[in-house]
Amino acid sequence: MSHFATYMERNKAFANTGAKEHVPEIPFIPFEQTFVITCIDPRVEPAAVLGVELGEAIVLRSVGGRVTPAVLQDVAWISHLHEAKTPDADWFDLAVIHHTDCGSGLFADAGLRRDFVARGGYDDATIAGLAVLDPAVTVRKDVELLRSSPQLSSRVHVSGHAYDLRTGLLTTVVD
Ligand SMILES: [Zn+2]
Repeated sequence: MSHFATYMERNKAFANTGAKEHVPEIPFIPFEQTFVITCIDPRVEPAAVLGVELGEAIVLRSVGGRVTPAVLQDVAWISHLHEAKTPDADWFDLAVIHHTDCGSGLFADAGLRRDFVARGGYDDATIAGLAVLDPAVTVRKDVELLRSSPQLSSRVHVSGHAYDLRTGLLTTVVD
């Protein structure tokens, strides 16, 4: 039995409820018109930490919740769809969340990074720059990146937040 078998079972239970019927008509217009970018860390699961329910928000997760070119492209695509298909609908609250004790901090470890960079042929400085050592500092940087990206509609409202694993509280860094 794989670990995933648990979720296959839970999925059967889910499919037997009416929850699947209560989803947005247009997937890029979720109920709370919110787009969250956060870390893949299981300790910061948005369903638990923010109480995000089915159909309420678009959640995009990356290591550290960093806005990499791939993340930016995905956000830009949703922004483009919104502008082209539903320009009169409410615009997004795009919230970027970085957190304390983030595993991405290990990108700052030169030894670890050296082998990783060699393995993938990555750019060392780019990888080093992904480390979240102080969430308030890096989240500000990523909010600025999103706000200055011409790929994104200026109607998207971007904010930045830091999540403290010890207290369980989110603090707004950039509103
Ligand atoms: Zn993290």
